[in-house]
Amino acid sequence: MAVIGAGGAGLVTMQELIKMGHTVICFESESMIGGTWNFETSSRTSVYKNLRTNLPRELMAFEQYKMRPKDDAEGSFTGDARRFASHSEITGWIKSYAEEFSLNQFIRFSTEVKNVVKVEDQWVVTALSNDVESVDKFDSVCIANGHYEAMVKPDLKGHDIFPNQIAHSHDYKTPTDYTGKRVLFLGASFSGEDISRDMSSEIAQGWLVARRPGVSNPEKSPIGAKENIDRVRGTIDELRADGSVLLTTGDVLENVDCVMLCTGYAFNYPFLNQVEGLKWD
Ligand SMILES: Cc1cc2nc3c(=O)[nH]c(=O)nc-3n(C[C@H](O)[C@H](O)[C@H](O)COP(=O)(O)OP(=O)(O)OC[C@H]3O[C@@H](n4cnc5c(N)ncnc54)[C@H](O)[C@@H]3O)c2cc1C
Repeated sequence: MAVIGAGGAGLVTMQELIKMGHTVICFESESMIGGTWNFETSSRTSVYKNLRTNLPRELMAFEQYKMRPKDDAEGSFTGDARRFASHSEITGWIKSYAEEFSLNQFIRFSTEVKNVVKVEDQWVVTALSNDVESVDKFDSVCIANGHYEAMVKPDLKGHDIFPNQIAHSHDYKTPTDYTGKRVLFLGASFSGEDISRDMSSEIAQGWLVARRPGVSNPEKSPIGAKENIDRVRGTIDELRADGSVLLTTGDVLENVDCVMLCTGYAFNYPFLNQVEGLKWD
């Protein structure tokens, strides 16, 4: 069996398959396990410096591997014992899980799957590692390549003349990159809510603009104690060459330094392009 990706989903899949007696090879394009939680090292991560989980560790853990070291009920993997832990604690837990079940030996690191096709009864997986191509055949392929990497970006009128930054939440890493700026956050789901909150201590002014209420109470404006974030029910009508933004409410926001698109991600399986009749949304 092949597994594509050694993030949390790929690792738990591997462990279950091995338990059932299958022979498993996992392909991982990065040089380490952990997927998107590897803030420090992954080139593909969507995590940011101050991110803490939005699930308590008791719920987020795998059933067979708690998010507490076995020998220390009150302890942690990295010194962060908080219930809603930091990304480094999650990475520590994932690494510990892989060690516990000796999974690393089955992973081909720095090996990116480029193509998967079915030939008669088998799946042929072509991968690339340091410019060297490998071709292997498998009975089955499990895809665990994550779904928080391919950015969804709305086609905004005026995006080509707007003189200031247009970024996606995938690019957001640390609030100090935005010190003193005026930032429009488009979208008020988990990313919009959390990133605007995280940035509010650094930015001069923020607007959280969304058609639908966000994940927290929409009547509560500004969010939390952060009085420099205004919540606007609507969306962007037009980005303008003078750095202002016209909203569908008719309001014009002046001197917007950055439009941060908190508009989510799409499923993306580029290596399946040659499989006939396969579609995904
Ligand atoms: C900002 C953010 C916050 C989140 N917060 C939480 C939270 O608090 N709690 C929670 O439970 N979940 C949270 N999540 C969801 C998170 O995605 C999951 O927790 C988990 O990391 C998903 O694991 P995964 O293995 O599916 O994907 P990933 O962790 O993305 O791993 C996918 C792996 O596949 C590899 N890969 C991709 N393509 C290829 C290829 N072609 N060849 C080889 N390898 C490939 C990648 O390098 C990566 O290592 C959050 C996600 C984001 C983006």
